[in-house]
Amino acid sequence: MTIERTLGLIKPDGLERGKQGLIIDRILQNGFKILAMKQIRLTKAQAEGFYAEHAARPFFGSLCSYMTSGQIIAMTLEKENAIADWRKLMGATNPEKADAGTIRKDFAVDMEKNSVHGSDSPASAGREVPHFFSNLEF
Ligand code: UDP
Ligand code: MG
Repeated sequence: MTIERTLGLIKPDGLERGKQGLIIDRILQNGFKILAMKQIRLTKAQAEGFYAEHAARPFFGSLCSYMTSGQIIAMTLEKENAIADWRKLMGATNPEKADAGTIRKDFAVDMEKNSVHGSDSPASAGREVPHFFSNLEF
């Protein structure tokens, strides 16, 4: 397996309820290195650009207003097989369907306010990491 980098976000519901420490601890305990991390509030344009692949979906407007409703934490995560392993640690999009022990199962509020984001493929990670971090930050 190769060392990969992926984008992790802790979404506004995670910070609002003070879960960011517990989520970051799980990331570290599962062998990820946090290469870069910042707490920011997205503008509407940034949220719409980040989720452009979902622009035609019925949940797009609500998702973008939720993602700009408070601060988020953005992280570049690195380990072997980081992209798939971070998705596995996050759990399914719908927390009701997420496996036991996953972050979404344990922390998410609902299908939208599901606490974390992770790139879903090498192509997505290649696009999403630079959305938040320039190479100068590594
Ligand atoms: N989402 C939603 N309703 C849906 C599907 C998705 O509110 O029916 C939100 C949810 O916050 C999700 C994000 O849109 O995490 C992106 O959707 P995607 O299908 O890419 O899920 P993910 O990759 O985050 O598991
Ligand atoms: Mg996705």
